[in-house]
Parts: sequence; structure tokens; C-alpha cells
Amino acid sequence: MPKIVEAFSRIGEENAFAVLARATQLQAQGRDVINLGIGQPDFATPEHIVEAAIKALRDGHHGYTPATGILPLREAICRDVARRLNVEVSPDAVMVMPGGKVTMFAAILMFGEPGAEILYPDPGFPIYRSMIEFTGAKPVPVPIREENGFAFSAQETLSLINERTRLVILNSPANPTGGVTPKAEIDALVAGLAAHPDVAILSDEIYGSMTYDGEPHVSLLSYPEIRDRLIWLDGASKTYAMTGWRLGWSVWPPAFYEAARKLAVNSFSCVNAATQRAGIAALDGPQDCVATMMTAFDARRKLVVEGLNALPGIRCRMPKGAFYAFPNIRATGWKAKPLASALLEKAGVAVIGGPDFGIHGEGYLRLSYAASQDAISTALRRMGDFLESETPL
Ligand code: PLP
Repeated sequence: MPKIVEAFSRIGEENAFAVLARATQLQAQGRDVINLGIGQPDFATPEHIVEAAIKALRDGHHGYTPATGILPLREAICRDVARRLNVEVSPDAVMVMPGGKVTMFAAILMFGEPGAEILYPDPGFPIYRSMIEFTGAKPVPVPIREENGFAFSAQETLSLINERTRLVILNSPANPTGGVTPKAEIDALVAGLAAHPDVAILSDEIYGSMTYDGEPHVSLLSYPEIRDRLIWLDGASKTYAMTGWRLGWSVWPPAFYEAARKLAVNSFSCVNAATQRAGIAALDGPQDCVATMMTAFDARRKLVVEGLNALPGIRCRMPKGAFYAFPNIRATGWKAKPLASALLEKAGVAVIGGPDFGIHGEGYLRLSYAASQDAISTALRRMGDFLESETPL
């Protein structure tokens, strides 16, 4: 078997896509299914962004662009970074890729090889682990604990670094927990990383514009002492409700930038030209669309957490970021995956079992509250009825 076929056969993927497919299949059979499974905003991409793409197509932007992304978009990304994070970045450090996933694939490919170790959050975005496994490197899970508010522990992360560690992946605000790592913990992590100058860092900040109650988002980009080994990842998918457009961007240190550019040239060439121009409209245009979405997410967040905490055996923290709730279901007597599956098949509610995000996800479910308040209320009612009438498998 070709090596690459074998490598892909060994690795996982995002189960949210399988749950989405099953939910769609059930709906096609006439079943009423509420989908709290998939991690994508349920809003339409804001009109001015769509218009910018249409205009770009009409204006004849149909060709290849530089593999790094067009300069006006890279400049708009730098303005966004300066405005939101108060950090100066050169457009020459910015790469535009078709999504955050491709960016992390590039970064993990660069550092992963047999004999290497890569640290990643667990529970965390499942693609980290599958891509690490794909490269032959050893995936080293960093436990993300409920009692820490689902924040990274600097001490625990640093304790897992050894002479084989090549890359540490961080994610705050986080999928699947909604956890936001506070500044003190990031300060401690960065201070500790000084003792490991050869370890690179991939900071996935795709939810960086999505925090609640004034909770600050602390970016790894704001630490000059690690900039020479930091890959910073962001994109349009979540902030601007653009998951299907495939637009991600990242900041790379000079040592790895050229490799990232070559990876682009040798594979996808560039993100499509109209989408890049839509990205400029997203970043330079009015930001009230983001605020409007966040106000809606905030109301749903409170509704879902309050509703979950009223269910028998379920306890849920108030997430500080992203649009996920990660309730602890241990006291229900159910294991997470059988519960998620039974909720979909019997109660018509699609959620994801915590173990789909890593071994430390057992005992939890992930609910994406990218759904209307009505849908959320109905889903919670169905979950309550289910838990009261069914005995754990
Ligand atoms: N990073 C995290 C933590 C995510 O949850 C997701 C999507 O769910 C991504 C990256 C990928 O986003 P994109 O659509 O830009 O590939």
C-alpha cells in the first residue's frame, strides 16, 4: 500500500462531519433533528463581504495570485492584528491559506517526523492529533481540565516538554470547551519556554475575536521573546461566518516562512482571488456584524448553560469564548459517546461526545450553540425528557 494511503488510514478526522452527515440523513428521512454538532456559525456571511466577492469576480479577478496571498489582503490582516492585538506585524510575515486547517497541516508537517514529539490540547480540535499521527511524530496530549476553567496549565504543559519535543500547539479561546487561558498562565508558559529555545509554537487563535463578558483575548503574538518560533493562526471562518469560503491566515517567523510559501506553491497555489478580496472587505469593513453575532451567541450561551444545569446529572460551566458548551455528564451514569449517539437517534438532538476531542473528553458532551434560541430550547427539552425516561447503556 502506498505509504501515504497507509498514513491516512491510520489517522482520525473530525467526527462532527460524520454527525452532520447522519443528522442530514435523518432529516432527509423526515426526522426532526436539531443540529448542535457542527462548529460553524449559523449566520449568513455579512452582505458587504459577499458583495465584495461578487464585485471581484465582475472586475475580472479570476487568475492565480501570489501563493502568500495578495498584498492588500496581507496588509489588511496586519491592520486587524494592530487594531485588535496591538501588535505590529509585517505583511512579509503573513501567509494566506485555504483555512485554518491547511495552516495547521503546514505547521505540523514542518515539525512532525518519527522520533519527534508534538504537544497538543486534549480535549482539543481533533485535527491536531490526526495530523501529528500522520507525520509519524508522537502526539503528546496536554490535559485541559475543567477545574482550571478549561484553560491551559503552564506548569503541566512545560512538564511534558523533553528533548524530542518539536512543537507545542495552543488554542485559546478553545474548541471544544470554550475555555480561555488567562494572561498569567500564558505569561508563565512563555517564561518557561525560554528554557526550550528549539521548541516551536503553533497558536491557534481562530476564536480570538470571540470572548464574552469583556474577557480579554491574550495573543501569543504579543510576546516578542517567542516571535522567532511562533506560528500564529487565524482566519475568516468563525469571526465572519465564512466556513465554506476557505480563508485562513497566519503569521510565520522568517525561519519557516519560505517553507510555508513553497508548500503553498507546490500544492494549492493560492486561495481563490475573489475570496481574498472578500477577506479585505471583512477585515477593513464595518465590524458591527461581528458584534451582532457575538450578542446573539452570548444570549444563546446563557440559555444553553442555564438549561443544561437544570438537567438531571448535568453540570456545565459558563464558557468564556468560542460558541461551545462542554457539559460534564458523569453524574447521568452515561458514557459520552453512547449518550451522544442515543440523543441523535432517539431524541433528534445532534451533539458530539467529548472523547471525539481526546481521551480527556470522556464524561463530557460538546454542544455548539450556533443555532436559534428556539432550537436550543427545544433541544434542551428533548435532552431532559430523554434523560428522565432512558436508563444509561
Ligand atoms: N482551529 C480550531 C480550534 C477550530 O475549531 C477550527 C474549526 O472548527 C479550525 C481551526 C479550522 O477552521 P477553518 O475553517 O479555518 O479550517
